[in-house]
Amino acid sequence: MVSRVIPVETFDLVIFGGTGDLARRKILPGLFRRFRVGQMPEEARIIAAARGDMDRAAFQAMVRDALIEFVEPEARSSEMIEGFLNHLDYASVDAMGESGWDTLRGKLRDGKIRAFYFSVAPSLFGAIAERLKTYGLANEDSRIVVEKPFGRDLESAKILNKGLAEYFDESQIYRIDHYLGKETVQNLMAVRFGNILFEPLWNAQYIDHVQITVAETVGVGGRGSYYDKSGAMRDMVQNHIMQLLCLTAMEPPARFEPDAVRDEKLKVIRALDPVTVQDVVRGQYQETSDLAGYLEDSENPDSNTESFVAMKLEIANWRWQGTPFYIRTGKRLRARMSEIVIRFREIPHSIFGADSGSKANELSIRLQPNEGMDLRVTIKEPGPGGMRLVDVPLDMTFAKVLGPDADDVPDAYERLIMDVIRGNQTLFMRGDEVEAAWAWTDPIISAWEEADKRPAPYDSGSSGPEEALALMHRDNRRWKEIRS
Ligand code: NAD
Repeated sequence: MVSRVIPVETFDLVIFGGTGDLARRKILPGLFRRFRVGQMPEEARIIAAARGDMDRAAFQAMVRDALIEFVEPEARSSEMIEGFLNHLDYASVDAMGESGWDTLRGKLRDGKIRAFYFSVAPSLFGAIAERLKTYGLANEDSRIVVEKPFGRDLESAKILNKGLAEYFDESQIYRIDHYLGKETVQNLMAVRFGNILFEPLWNAQYIDHVQITVAETVGVGGRGSYYDKSGAMRDMVQNHIMQLLCLTAMEPPARFEPDAVRDEKLKVIRALDPVTVQDVVRGQYQETSDLAGYLEDSENPDSNTESFVAMKLEIANWRWQGTPFYIRTGKRLRARMSEIVIRFREIPHSIFGADSGSKANELSIRLQPNEGMDLRVTIKEPGPGGMRLVDVPLDMTFAKVLGPDADDVPDAYERLIMDVIRGNQTLFMRGDEVEAAWAWTDPIISAWEEADKRPAPYDSGSSGPEEALALMHRDNRRWKEIRS
């Protein structure tokens, strides 16, 4: 199977914060990969706008180093890197001040697609949006891309939305949640809405429950003080997990178009029941003989911030009444694994007898590692000896079913940036979606803050606190094992 590269129109992409960590690790390597597969138009330009006096050559040297560090050796050659560097330019701009804006404007060409990527702290979003307009850099067709975190509660998200809306129409604003750019996440929609098999069963009558797990092995060391102000709820649940939940639970949109999809996602968020205290578990990883605990990593010995959260959620609508969604995410867990598991109900009656070994069907959608899906189905165990049943996977690991071309699948950032250039907002969050997600999250966080309780401790390399296991056990269910 050959993956197709669909050309995009030529563009000027300005990356505010183009010398920062995110740009060097994700954005520029992603653009390099699009260049490598021939998707970048010959005349496309990428201009980093950042603080710091640097000329074009120094910026190119910085990006050369970044590509060597962050792009796999087999996916780059020095010739290719030099070719890519030709597309780059640099402008020293002060986002909060007035210097550099005229120079930056001078680098932009008329008649080309213009996109401005805000890879900077959210406190700079409003100032940049304003200056893009006052210095005449942005026009009605220009797009702006904003990074997470989009606020830390409803109030701050509203302020950010308002700050952008003063200068840009919602149709020009691309709020990134890179989970939406993942191949498997889009495949979730393809599987649901491109097959007749699943949608008739995709409801409370046939689905017992849904599990969403985003497990990481890393701790917060290195960015501890930032994380300590956020925690797992703000860092993972409000955005990434909420998006996965929406795509799993939403009604079929009439078309695969931005507002049709986003309207349906928004309805899911609005249908979420408030979560009760007994349905939430917060955890914090503890020190072990060879690894620091959260308190040390966060450099805050009194921190009550959670590095783990598990919850049972109910979506109060016709489709999902009676089918809970269990979500969990945490740092320093046993393995790096992100997965959505759709657990179907047991068959109503086994003609083979209670001991035959029939199991409920299960569809797992793996975001990492080994992106793909597997559907567990029951078949007869081979050989004589009567009708004994076993469950086997129908394995759709992309690397297996798509062959070597699966490796050429763009990663989340590169796909999303190309969508910005194409002007397709389907995989970006709309302002009202973000606000609705905060409106649901805020009371949970406020209740924690009021209670001022220590999160439950858990060992590094475990599946999280015991209480999280109990959250499922009390409903006679169990989490799928965290493993890579
Ligand atoms: P960073 O500190 O490494 O880089 C910040 C960049 O912003 C630098 O290029 C700096 O020159 C520029 N900058 C700072 N103040 C400026 C000013 N006044 N005028 C012009 N330029 C200015 O930050 P980062 O890690 O690259 O993160 C950027 C944004 O992306 C943040 O909002 C962060 O939360 C978000 N983000 C980062 C990651 C990541 O992995 N690093 C992941 C997701 C989201």
